[in-house]
Amino acid sequence: MRYQRSSALFAEAKQYIPGGVNSPVRAFKAVGGDPIFVKKAEGAYLYDEDDNRLIDYIASWGPLILGHAYEPVLNAVIDKAKKGTSFGMPTEIETQLAKLSVSMVPNIDKIRFVNSGTEACMSAVRLARGYTGKDKIIKFAGCYHGHSDSFLIQAGSGAVTFGSPNSPGVTQGTAKDTLLAHYNDLEGVKKLVEANKGEIATIIIEPVAGNMGCIVPTDEFIKGLRDICTQEGILLLFDEVMTGFRLAKGGAQEALGVDADIVTFGKVIGGGLPVGAFAARSEIMGHLAPEGPVYQAGTLSGNPLAMSAGLAMLTELNNNAQIFQSLADKTEYLHKGLAKVLNKKGVPYQINRFGSMISVHFTDEPVVDFASSAKGNNATFKKYFHGMLDKGVYLPPSAFESYFLNDALSYDDLDETINAAKAIDL
Ligand SMILES: *Cc1c(COP(=O)(O)O)cnc(C)c1O
Repeated sequence: MRYQRSSALFAEAKQYIPGGVNSPVRAFKAVGGDPIFVKKAEGAYLYDEDDNRLIDYIASWGPLILGHAYEPVLNAVIDKAKKGTSFGMPTEIETQLAKLSVSMVPNIDKIRFVNSGTEACMSAVRLARGYTGKDKIIKFAGCYHGHSDSFLIQAGSGAVTFGSPNSPGVTQGTAKDTLLAHYNDLEGVKKLVEANKGEIATIIIEPVAGNMGCIVPTDEFIKGLRDICTQEGILLLFDEVMTGFRLAKGGAQEALGVDADIVTFGKVIGGGLPVGAFAARSEIMGHLAPEGPVYQAGTLSGNPLAMSAGLAMLTELNNNAQIFQSLADKTEYLHKGLAKVLNKKGVPYQINRFGSMISVHFTDEPVVDFASSAKGNNATFKKYFHGMLDKGVYLPPSAFESYFLNDALSYDDLDETINAAKAIDL
């Protein structure tokens, strides 16, 4: 494949935008080479600036669960745009999307719309702190909840009690309130809760993790978290920015059979436009301004174009719930096909999968948390990524990202993907 135009555009972008991108993972730092500049997309395919056609496995990092340029969503946005793009006043469509969301998701009565997943998680934690009157939060190493200060904390060796910031600009004062635990390690969480008794507002988690590859929680772990939260008066916060309206109508809560106290959304709920949201029972949401004292606001929150994309998307998913099964079937097919290819090559690997999320790790140890995910062989991953790209398959450009399948992918596309893997020399 040829990428001359993409490379030229990247060189120009770097003169005016830090690193040439508006979100770091797009820059291909983890895999090397220049990023691909996209010109347009339709269904399961991306068309880049050099006119290559790529089968897309990121779907804008999740939102486009029905494929690119999906007609009902497009039409809803175009119709809405003709009536004005923003008012800063209440509109009926906000209530329509709120009502539909609340009807699809368990354990929520009310929802507040924001503009990104970051904003949703940041606001949800503020609400949890305001509601419980406690300051500390527990997060898990390798889970991503957006780039707000409290979340940019990762495990250093032995950093079990207090987190240390892993981005300059995050103060120690903020970091000290974020306690770190390890995914699938219930005993560690119990110890942390015991050591900080009565001080923890919320445990925030990706109920199926997608930001260290796809990592599935054990039943014992995720149900154990629920029990600890109930016993200790801690709010269980499911960050469903990735899993919401993807793993099932009711997201991970439904798919795993576990109730959360606060849920955050993003990605699918915006149908490809910038939307985030957080939701809970009325009793908790009642603490939010203007009903309660916890402040949160947004000039463009509930924007009519964004709401119309979200409403069209969720309406499709609500009316065609078999989409979730169809996506899971396609993902299983891809899993089996890739496994067969990698077995033949004799390269050590793990494939993790849940619903329409899947990731390939080049390691012989099971990948159950950040540490085991980080053991993947990055040299092999780079060869695999670039080999697939050269065959017209666009995978996430980092071993720490999940693929997101979209329903426009056909079984022919999946076969083409599996055949592409066959042709790579790993
Ligand atoms: C993408 C993501 C976020 C952040 O959402 P943005 O819209 O990028 O701010 C938060 N949490 C999870 C689980 C995500 O996958």
